[in-house]
Amino acid sequence: MAAVAVTAVPVAAGTPEVVGVRAGENGESTRFVLDLTDAVTFEVFTLHNPDRVVVDMSRVQWNLPSDNHRLETGMIEGFRYGEFEGEARIVLDVGTSAQVRAAFLLEPSADFGYRFVLDLEPGRVAPDVEEALIEPEALLASLGWERPPLPGEKPAPRKRIVVIDPGHGGVDPGAIGTSGTFEKDLTLTAARDLKRLLEATGDYHVVLTRDSDEFLRLSDRVALARAAEADLFISIHADALDDSSVRGAGVYTLSETASDSEAAALADKENKVDIIAGVDFINVAYAPVTTNILIDLAQRETTNSSSQFATVLTSTLNEAVRLRGNAHRFAGFRVLKAPDVPSVLLEMGFLSNAEEERNMLDPAFRERFMGAVVDAVDIYFSDRAP
Ligand SMILES: [Zn+2]
Repeated sequence: MAAVAVTAVPVAAGTPEVVGVRAGENGESTRFVLDLTDAVTFEVFTLHNPDRVVVDMSRVQWNLPSDNHRLETGMIEGFRYGEFEGEARIVLDVGTSAQVRAAFLLEPSADFGYRFVLDLEPGRVAPDVEEALIEPEALLASLGWERPPLPGEKPAPRKRIVVIDPGHGGVDPGAIGTSGTFEKDLTLTAARDLKRLLEATGDYHVVLTRDSDEFLRLSDRVALARAAEADLFISIHADALDDSSVRGAGVYTLSETASDSEAAALADKENKVDIIAGVDFINVAYAPVTTNILIDLAQRETTNSSSQFATVLTSTLNEAVRLRGNAHRFAGFRVLKAPDVPSVLLEMGFLSNAEEERNMLDPAFRERFMGAVVDAVDIYFSDRAP
């Protein structure tokens, strides 16, 4: 029988306890895990000179076995923790080449309670908040996008501009599949598939909001779509639910009032992503509350166009893949808030369903899926004057 640890300080009711800390190497990456008795909220950011990864966590009670504090594994060269402004702060000293691959909270399973997981991988250190504040034009330039001709310049034939937004990225893995697929990786692969298929038609100029594993704020994504003068914005996601039987694709558009409680919960989940990367909400592209009738009209026009595209998209997808019931739903998604760009959020399916996870990882399935999206884009623009 193991000795029972006695805590000197009574644990405040409801305060999650940290009851274990471990780290392990998996190939080139290093995984850091805290075992917790309850859920926590957290922010992750990096500091340089020396390089550290900092995790600020909602208040916890530290209750680690005394021999469990030293932790030098893989890229982790040191581990400290303490209280900072009433919350928990964890500092990992890392080698200069470490970057945060993902940080997430796992719900209890048969063998484990709540776990906070931080994955480190070799590479450049994740950009800190200052570096993340990139102007949309700089982002576009870095993606090789060229501005449309200025007035007076000879205009090139006008191609429709479609901005595809792979959801999540960088420190934010998004949903996690039954076999460990990160939503952020799937969305990037799927977005590249869609870009290739759209460009193959010769009719579209396609811009990705990100073309690497990097974190972008929701407002960056919206600002990028507006700076690109997008005619259409498609944000790609894949969901996960506790109920592993739920499956099927869904299309979401913006609305102040949600179509149903599940859509509202999904919007809440998708809107929270800025918090985990430790950046503030700065809504450079937010539609201000206004009584300006012209802006209201533009917004209404955009809302109508978004709904029309969503309707076409659900019907072309219905021919190709499995859809959820009520496949077109709406809620207050922040990433859909460009007032002048018709925008939809496409949930490809559920990573929590093993078969659907396998499907989405299958290039042939994605080809069929994204082919249906191209069909919808074609139909949507066919009755709209350039
Ligand atoms: Zn998502």
